Amino acid sequence: MPNTCMSCGAPAEAGLYYCLDKTQSNWPGKKSTTLNLNFPICAECHAVSASRRGANVVIVIGIIISLLVCGLSAVAANSLSNQNALITIISAGTLFFISAMLFRWFARLINEKGLTPENKRRRRNLLKAGSVKQFKVPGTFDKTGFIDFQFENAPFAASFALLNRGKLL
Ligand SMILES: [Zn+2]
Repeated sequence: MPNTCMSCGAPAEAGLYYCLDKTQSNWPGKKSTTLNLNFPICAECHAVSASRRGANVVIVIGIIISLLVCGLSAVAANSLSNQNALITIISAGTLFFISAMLFRWFARLINEKGLTPENKRRRRNLLKAGSVKQFKVPGTFDKTGFIDFQFENAPFAASFALLNRGKLL
């Protein structure tokens, strides 16, 4: 690991990490593997990284309500549009999307409450600073595995690749 912050590039604070995770299912969908990796961050980024419990509750309730809205609109559109499947799917999908966006926006409002504009920017940068795009666990026949990361901070990506003998794409 480089000893700089994954998000802003400042010197990393020992013992502080930001976890990137990714869950992938194999082809038949029977087995899923989750990858949890900790990346170094600085004290300032860590201070704004936590999600509030209220926001997590909002997200969970939001998913449930969005699914309900999706189901109800499908029923409504189905009876109104003379069972035109395309209209049913499009209206249900659109309403699900709008509802989910509303709850996500509300959760972000809770998470950013009381943060200065600079800290809001820092938090948003951190949330999209890195991700695991895909990975492959070494298999029985094919013994090579890989992890594909994406980082917004180019110097961090370069030193991470160097330290892990990875390839910069
Ligand atoms: Zn930082």
